[in-house]
Amino acid sequence: MTTTIAVAHGNGIGPEIMQATLKVLRAAGADLAFETIEIGEEVYKKGIKTGIADSAWDTLRRTKIFLKAPITTPQGGGFKSLNVTIRKAIGLYANIRPCVSYYPYVETKHPTMNVVIVRENEEGLYGGIEYQQTPEMTMSLKMITIPGCERIVRYAFEYARQNNRKKVTVFTKDNIMKQTDGLFHKIFDQVATEYPDIANEHWIIDIGTAKLADAPEQFDVIVLENLYGDILSDVAAEIAGSVGMCGSANIGEDFAMFEAIHGSAPDIAGRDIANPSGLLLSAVMMLVHICQIDVAENIHNAWLKTIEEGIHTGDIYNAKTSSKKVGTQAFADAVIERLGQKPEKLTPVSYNQHCTIDTFKFDHGSVKQPKRDIVGIDVYIYADPCSNFAELAQQAQAVANDFILETITNRGTKVWPQGIPETFCTDQWRLRYKGKQTHSAIAELLLRLANQNVEVVRTEYLYDFDGEAKYSA
Ligand code: NAD
Repeated sequence: MTTTIAVAHGNGIGPEIMQATLKVLRAAGADLAFETIEIGEEVYKKGIKTGIADSAWDTLRRTKIFLKAPITTPQGGGFKSLNVTIRKAIGLYANIRPCVSYYPYVETKHPTMNVVIVRENEEGLYGGIEYQQTPEMTMSLKMITIPGCERIVRYAFEYARQNNRKKVTVFTKDNIMKQTDGLFHKIFDQVATEYPDIANEHWIIDIGTAKLADAPEQFDVIVLENLYGDILSDVAAEIAGSVGMCGSANIGEDFAMFEAIHGSAPDIAGRDIANPSGLLLSAVMMLVHICQIDVAENIHNAWLKTIEEGIHTGDIYNAKTSSKKVGTQAFADAVIERLGQKPEKLTPVSYNQHCTIDTFKFDHGSVKQPKRDIVGIDVYIYADPCSNFAELAQQAQAVANDFILETITNRGTKVWPQGIPETFCTDQWRLRYKGKQTHSAIAELLLRLANQNVEVVRTEYLYDFDGEAKYSA
């Protein structure tokens, strides 16, 4: 049955690389119908701050499959990132980015690299929830949930199993972020036990990144939180050969979007020199997703043959390994000429008739409901950066009543009790009050602070879950 997909031609080099990609899809006999939607620059110019009109949402809702060229996000002016909006609005929680080297035809220091980055796509710092409450301090909320972790980690293991991959690695910074990254790591360890056929390992992200950049062949599938995955996938794509060569899939329970990982490259737009490979390989991932396996395999192998014959666009052209420098459309024509052929030196792909990976439906009923006790409150206040620690403590203690003022911190560093005068402070201070109190006792504490002209700018409740502290020390 013909699959109707939504197509956006995008901005910058978008229209050229989409033209090249659609040409190859048609020539290979992909059973597709296309509905074009307008997103990006032109839509922003009409004053639609999200960069996508309601009619485009209707098309996406109907087609559920979206092939997207890169778009240009205007700087400043309150415009939202369209990519983030789309991913979150239609629940595209898994971002899959295969980063493969094509040595010796594309230059790389890592000839055998073949890494797939599985990036969580909705959570972490991409909630985009940020505040400035005092002149000196800005703040961003990082949110990590059990459903978010479990869905992405399971996806990574399912992907590994279905694609015959041997190991899944997770990178976190849970030595510092014990709650958020700690949860991601904990769920990774739990889910990993259900996949005894696949090896698993954890690296702290800083040394893990260094290892990836130095010896990527040690890695297979890497699963990461949103921001880490964003950064690491660009590093991985670049060291494999070029960001221009990597495709990606964004997968949700009901929708899927496919796009190159690079941007709209306005510096080379309209010159027929852009490499369409990233978008073309994304389209191959789309064909696998909708189970048009034979066409996917045919295009992918023709593309590999084109690359190994040295027919290259300018970004990867190298006089030593390339035979011909071609433009965007001529590259697509070269792929079309090789449909039905397989690479002789590079390894041909075979998708083994496996297609869509079942997305995991999270059962909220499976989450353990612990006994939750309020054991205190962190009160953030706006005060002079040069405040005297002891005087601040005295003022905070004066209104404590049944609470105990445990600590005062500034940017997370304890300054009272037993702080040292050398600690650099800013204008936002945190008063930690401890005590098993009620919500109304907390409200009364805040009122007493207000009556003392203490400016409270933010509060955080402190909870114990089944007796275990669920806040940073
Ligand atoms: P970019 O990826 O567009 O370009 C970075 C460099 O790589 C440029 O020198 C460019 O010429 C080159 N390059 C990128 N793709 C190439 C290709 N296919 N062939 C040959 N060379 C290629 O990154 P940028 O310059 O930071 O961003 C430009 C615009 O793209 C910005 O407005 C940004 O917001 C947007 N962007 C969009 C997406 C998306 O739509 N998914 C992703 C990233 C950036």
